[in-house]
Amino acid sequence: MSHEPIKTLPLVFDEPRGRKKPPRHLADLDEAGRKDLLTEMGLPGFRAKQLSTHYFGRLVHDPAEMTDLPGAQRAELVNALLPDLMNPIRQQEADRGKTVKTLWKLFDGSLVESVLMRYKDRATICISSQAGCGMACPFCATGAGGLQRNMSTAEIVHQVVVGARAMANGDVAGGPGRLSNVVFMGMGEPLANYKATVNAVRRLTDPAPAGLGLSARHVTVSTVGLVPRIKQLADEGIPVTLALSLHAPDDELRNELVPINTKWSVEETVAAAYEYFEKTGRRVSIEYAMMRDINDQAWRADRLAEVLSDNGRGRAWVHVNPIPLNDIPGSQFTRSREEDMDEFVRRLNAAGVVTTMRDTRGSDIDAACGQLAAAE
Ligand code: SAH
Repeated sequence: MSHEPIKTLPLVFDEPRGRKKPPRHLADLDEAGRKDLLTEMGLPGFRAKQLSTHYFGRLVHDPAEMTDLPGAQRAELVNALLPDLMNPIRQQEADRGKTVKTLWKLFDGSLVESVLMRYKDRATICISSQAGCGMACPFCATGAGGLQRNMSTAEIVHQVVVGARAMANGDVAGGPGRLSNVVFMGMGEPLANYKATVNAVRRLTDPAPAGLGLSARHVTVSTVGLVPRIKQLADEGIPVTLALSLHAPDDELRNELVPINTKWSVEETVAAAYEYFEKTGRRVSIEYAMMRDINDQAWRADRLAEVLSDNGRGRAWVHVNPIPLNDIPGSQFTRSREEDMDEFVRRLNAAGVVTTMRDTRGSDIDAACGQLAAAE
């Protein structure tokens, strides 16, 4: 073995039993569901559209700002469809205010984070899909804490609505703008919380007032590679971008870095990602966190290029996104040397696999991947 033994954690798929469910919110339901719910409660169904227009159309989420609600029904309507989902307990800025990280406390005290990143031509929010994570990747700070629970559809969506409002109001440096992109790259494994994730994607992409009206192409779901779920996602008919956290081209190393690999091998995982491309026409992104002397050798770059293009897959279906590892205090992993990262990228591009290094926005506020909420 070329490196020290890697400490392992157990894989956890199901959330602990007996957890109280998050409050139901209009973002959990589709338009018909919202209307039916109000009708069942003896409230006028048309109020569902009014509330939805506030929430998804005008990005107003505080009932106090919804001045057109009738006094007599106000409390009931708010209670039915607009309960308090989460509260910001800390906010940090970096990149001169263009990166904003929010730490959220959920109704049961669980903590999750989201990060808004404004660029020249777009604004992206990185959101969480679970409190904690059960996938046990040893280089990820979220993995170390295990899984607390799945987030609800509304809890997932609400992070985006609040971010979209901050952009629209000009609260993010650079003046008023539009939130354009969403990446499921915060805490949690989105495909382990499949139903809520897919529902959330529908809410994000449905036109207002049913949803936020974002383009599915601008939504990226990132996964460790739950193969049956990747196949299922390909059949949902929503062309979101799939990002696969590969991190190693060989089973021996990937079994350690991404323990789910012991269940589905590199070849099975890459084949499922390729099938996703074939069905949706969406180019798949391969995530590869660059870890010094662990997965950054030149031969692994060559092997990665082969694994991706093997079996007649070619190279046009994929691009590789290496990320300099974000160093986590106390971790046995460190970021690769610059020259090794350059060589890794060079070899993949030379082999015809489009490869671009990911930037590391927000790393000075621990907003970068794998570090969210770990400090609390
Ligand atoms: N569970 C999903 C999404 C969560 S994290 C997944 O694994 O894809 C988003 C990305 O950040 C993943 O590729 C993950 O492997 C990566 N990541 C985790 N810890 C990291 C770290 N310390 N440095 C860089 N990337 C990291």
